[in-house]
Amino acid sequence: MQAVTILGSTGSIGVSTLNVLAQHPDKYRVVALTANHSVDSLYEQCQQFQPDIAVMLDVPSADLLATKLKTAGLRTQVLSGARALEQVAASDGTDYVVAAIVGAAGLLPTLAAARAGKKILLANKEALVMSGGLFMREVEANGATLLPVDSEHNAIWQCLPVGKQQQYHYDGKGVRRIMLTASGGPFRDFDLADLEHVTPEQAVAHPNWSMGQKISVDSATMMNKGLEVIEAHWLFGLPSQKIDVVLHRQSIIHSMVDYVDGSVLAQMGNPDMRTPIANALAWPERIDSGVEPLDLISVGRLDFAAADHQHFPCLRLAYQALDAGGTSTAILNAANEVAVAAFLKKQIKFTEIPRTIENVLSRMTPNDGATIEQILADDTQARVLAKEFIK
Ligand code: NAD
Ligand code: MG
Repeated sequence: MQAVTILGSTGSIGVSTLNVLAQHPDKYRVVALTANHSVDSLYEQCQQFQPDIAVMLDVPSADLLATKLKTAGLRTQVLSGARALEQVAASDGTDYVVAAIVGAAGLLPTLAAARAGKKILLANKEALVMSGGLFMREVEANGATLLPVDSEHNAIWQCLPVGKQQQYHYDGKGVRRIMLTASGGPFRDFDLADLEHVTPEQAVAHPNWSMGQKISVDSATMMNKGLEVIEAHWLFGLPSQKIDVVLHRQSIIHSMVDYVDGSVLAQMGNPDMRTPIANALAWPERIDSGVEPLDLISVGRLDFAAADHQHFPCLRLAYQALDAGGTSTAILNAANEVAVAAFLKKQIKFTEIPRTIENVLSRMTPNDGATIEQILADDTQARVLAKEFIK
C-alpha cells in the first residue's frame, strides 16, 4: 500500500486525483488531505477517504471541520495553518505528495516534500517557476522524485528514454528541442482589439479543459504556457531556445520531443487530467485512470499553428523573464497572480494583465534567488508594485 497526501485536495487537480485513487483502493491509501477554506468539500472527502489528518489553512474553517467530523464519529485529526501544510508534506507517514495547491501558496509545502525526499506529483507549476534552481537542487540532494502532472510535462516525460526520465538534464543528450502544445484558450480566434472587452466569465470558459479559475485565466492570456516553458526548463534541463510552443487547438497531442535523428515522439490522449495523474502515480507502471479511450476517427484532424507573441504578450514576457534569470520568474509569477485576481474582480481589463506584469518587471532588479528568503522577498515586493500600478 502506498500512502498519499494531497495538498489542495478540494481543487480541480485534487478531485481528479481522488477519483483515480478511488479506483485503486488496493494500491493507495489517503493519509492526509488539505484545503484553504472549503469546509464542506473537505468534510465530504474525509467521510469518503478517512485520512489520518486533514489540514485547513484557515483556522475558523479548521475548527468547523473538526466539530463536524467529531459529530459524525470520524477519527481524522484536524490541523490548521501554513506550517501544518509543510508538516504533512514532509511526514514520515507519506510516500507520495500531490502538489495541487494553486499559486505561490504551494511553494513552501512542496519544497518541504522535496527536502523530505518524497515522490512528488507536481501540478503546482508556480512553485518551480518561483524557485526553479533551488527547488531542483533540493530534489537532487534529498533523493526526491519529481513526477510531472502538468499534462504537457507529463507528455514529455513519457516521450523521454524509458528509465532515464529522472536525470533532469537533457541538454546535449540527443534532444533537439521539445514542443509544448497549447490550445490557445478561449480567445485564440479573437482580434487583438476585441481582447480589450472580454470578461472574466468568458476567460474562465476554456474550450477543452475544466480547471480552477486562476489557471483558466492564465490559459486565456497564455501566461499558463509561459509558466510551462519555465517549468520545462527546470524539469528537463533545457535552455529556452530548445523549448518551443505550438498551437494545437484539439488538445489531443499533449506535447512532443524532437530528437536529433529526426524522430518526433508525441503523447496523445483525451484532454482529461486523470491520465497524467494516473501515469505519475503508477510510474514506471500503468494503471487504469477511468479516462475514455481516444477515438481518433471522431477527432478526425489535428491542426498546428505558430503561437503569436503579439496576440499573447504574456508568452513573450515569460520567455524574457526566463532568459533574465534569478528571481525574474518569481517576479513575473507574483505580478501575474495579483493581476489575474484583479481581473477576476473586474478591477482591470484583460489586456491590462500583461501591462501590469511588464510594468513590475521593468521596475525591479532581480536577485540571484539563491535562498528561499531572497525569492520570497522579491515575490512580496512584486505584489506591492503590482497593486500600486493597478491602483
Ligand atoms: P483550484 O483552484 O481548483 O484548487 C486549488 C486548491 O488549492 C484547492 O484545494 C484550495 O483549497 C487550495 N488552496 C488555494 N489557495 C490556498 C492557500 N493559500 N493555501 C493552501 N491551500 C490553498 O486549482 P487547480 O486548477 O486544481 O490547480 C492547482 C494547481 O495545478 C495550479 O498550480 C495549476 O497551475 C496546476 N494545474 C492544474 C491543471 C488543471 O487541469 N486544473 C492542469 C495542470 C496544472
Ligand atoms: Mg498544462
